[in-house]
Amino acid sequence: REYYVGVDLGGTKMLAALVASDGSIIAQEEIPTLAKQGADSVLDRLGSLIEGLLAASPGGRGIVRGIGVATAGTLDTAKGVVTYASNLGWRDVAVASVLSDRFACAVRLENDATAAAAGEWLAGAGEGSPDCLFVTISTGIGGGIISGGRLIAGTNHNAGELGHITIDGNGMLCPCGNVGCLELYASGTAIGRRGAEHVRRAAEGASSHGALARLAGGDPDRVDARLVAAAAAEGDADASGILREAGRALGIGLVSIFHLLNPQVVVLGGGASHIGEPLLAPMREIIEERCLPSIRSQVRFVASALGSSAGAVGAALLMTRNDN
Ligand code: BGC
Ligand code: ZN
Repeated sequence: REYYVGVDLGGTKMLAALVASDGSIIAQEEIPTLAKQGADSVLDRLGSLIEGLLAASPGGRGIVRGIGVATAGTLDTAKGVVTYASNLGWRDVAVASVLSDRFACAVRLENDATAAAAGEWLAGAGEGSPDCLFVTISTGIGGGIISGGRLIAGTNHNAGELGHITIDGNGMLCPCGNVGCLELYASGTAIGRRGAEHVRRAAEGASSHGALARLAGGDPDRVDARLVAAAAAEGDADASGILREAGRALGIGLVSIFHLLNPQVVVLGGGASHIGEPLLAPMREIIEERCLPSIRSQVRFVASALGSSAGAVGAALLMTRNDN
């Protein structure tokens, strides 16, 4: 077996894993990203995180063949540069060269969701399917595409930006520059934002004061997707409505994506996917109503098997392949 390091560099935490070429995780560790401290500090602490991981691993530093780094946003994979990552506040950060200087090995960048798709396809819930779509519902919405047994990376590895597919041509303005992007309506952030608006209105007496307002202690700033889901589970109709609208938006986006790709397995990942049926049932309803029968009848939804390690495992495993 060969060994690789996979990193998932996210807006709130960074996770590094030592991964064997068969996809098994030998060791993994995570620390907060603290993006506000700036890119130099983040990369320095990431280097220490990797060093710690290797020091604790059986073969030490010498066994590592390469480092794969998964990160949200747009990348120049050829140069190893993160060109734009809104969750990190980064523009043009040369991640690969910093790490390859420090560890004297090959370093490769990949989009977080594309890497997670590769992880789930090669060693997780999508294993063995030649037509597998990965969708993550988290801070943003991201995607990764396996079609005809190949990872579809696109011209410069930015394919599968499912969160920025337009679902409302006159919709809200997205920081990406487009309007009506799917992630403005269906991401964990979007669900939290709608919940916070509801609590604000409740505090002003403009809407009902249910479980959500109570769980938030009346404070809109305490509302996130998890709290909206908890309120819905307690029977708060407004919270359920927020999840239903988000689920429908997801369905609307997926119908177009399914028409484009005709997938077989759809792996759902990301923190907000754990909300489960209150979000996913309305999503499936829309797909049932609107997707071409010949396409929708082939789709099987499965939950992510690798969870928050998917991006790191995929980034590591992509180092083993020279065809992608
Ligand atoms: C970014 C994607 C990313 C997704 C999930 C989106 O906002 O544009 O690159 O994959 O969030 O993190
Ligand atoms: Zn957008």
